[in-house]
Amino acid sequence: MLRNKSLKDLNTFGVESQAECFVEAHTADDIWACLEQYRNIPVMVLGGGSNLLLTQDIAGVVLKISLKGISVLEQTHDHVIIEAQAGEIWHQVVEYCLAHNYGGIENLALIPGQMGSAPIQNIGAYGVEFKDVFHSCVAMHRATGQQQLFTLEDCKFGYRESVFKNELKNQYVILSVRLRLTKEKHQLKLDYGSIKEVLEQKDIANPTIAEVAQAVIDIRRSKLPDPKELGNSGSFFKNPIVAIESINFSSYS
Ligand SMILES: Cc1cc2nc3c(=O)[nH]c(=O)nc-3n(C[C@H](O)[C@H](O)[C@H](O)COP(=O)(O)OP(=O)(O)OC[C@H]3O[C@@H](n4cnc5c(N)ncnc54)[C@H](O)[C@@H]3O)c2cc1C
Repeated sequence: MLRNKSLKDLNTFGVESQAECFVEAHTADDIWACLEQYRNIPVMVLGGGSNLLLTQDIAGVVLKISLKGISVLEQTHDHVIIEAQAGEIWHQVVEYCLAHNYGGIENLALIPGQMGSAPIQNIGAYGVEFKDVFHSCVAMHRATGQQQLFTLEDCKFGYRESVFKNELKNQYVILSVRLRLTKEKHQLKLDYGSIKEVLEQKDIANPTIAEVAQAVIDIRRSKLPDPKELGNSGSFFKNPIVAIESINFSSYS
C-alpha cells in the first residue's frame, strides 16, 4: 500500500490528484484483501482512468485493477470464447484478437481503458457495442468477496448502460470478461461513419478485420487527440435517442 500516491499518470486528463492510500491488485485475492482490510473506508476502483474526472484528492483507498492474462476458453470451427482479465488494456485485447483473426471487436479499436471497465458502460463505437460480443463476466461482490458469473441477460446492457452503473453500482469488482468472437465468416460492420470511405481511399474492396480496425484507428486519430499527448476524456455526449413517432418527416421533404 502506498500513501499520498499521485494519480496524474493514471487518468487520461492528466489531472494531478493524490490518493490517500493506493493499492494495486494483481490477483482476485489482492482485491479481496484490500476490500476486507479497508471495509470501513471508501474504496474507489480504478481501471485506465479514461472515464473519470478527478476534481480533488481522493480520501480513502484507490484500488488499481492490474489483473492480466488472455486465454481461449472454448472454440468450435467458427467461433471462439476468449477470457481476458480485468486489468488488460482494451486496445491490446483488440490487437490480440486481430493477431488471431478473431472477429467482432475490430470497430472498437483504440478505445482507451481496461477490459474490466468495458462492461460498465457497454463501450461502443463505429456501429458496434460491447454487448454484441459479450458472453459473460466474473465479478467479486465487494461486501462478501463472493465471485459471481454474470450472463448477457444479467448485465442488462443498454446504450452506454449496464446493471453495474445502475442497481449494482459500486457493489461488484469485475475480475474477468469473456467474449464470443468469430473465427471465420466475420460479420463486418462498415456502414458507420467514414469507414467505407477510408477503405475506398486505400483501394480495399474486401477488407480483413485488421484493415477495418486500421480504418477505425485512422478515423479516430484524425478526430481525437491521443490522451498521452493532450489530456482528454473522449466524447462526453451520448447520441440522442428520439422516438420515431415524434419526428415530423414532412418538414424534411
Ligand atoms: C480519448 C477517449 C476516447 C474515448 N472513446 C470512447 C468510445 O469511442 N466509446 C466508448 O464507449 N467510450 C469511450 N471513451 C470512454 C472510456 O474509454 C470508456 O468508458 C472505458 O471503458 C473506461 O475504461 P477505464 O478502464 O479507463 O475506466 P475508469 O475511468 O478507470 O473507470 C470508469 C468507471 O469504471 C469503474 N471500474 C473500472 N474498472 C472496474 C472493474 N474492474 N470493476 C468494477 N468497476 C470498475 C471505476 O470505478 C469507474 O467508476 C473514451 C475515452 C477517451 C479518453
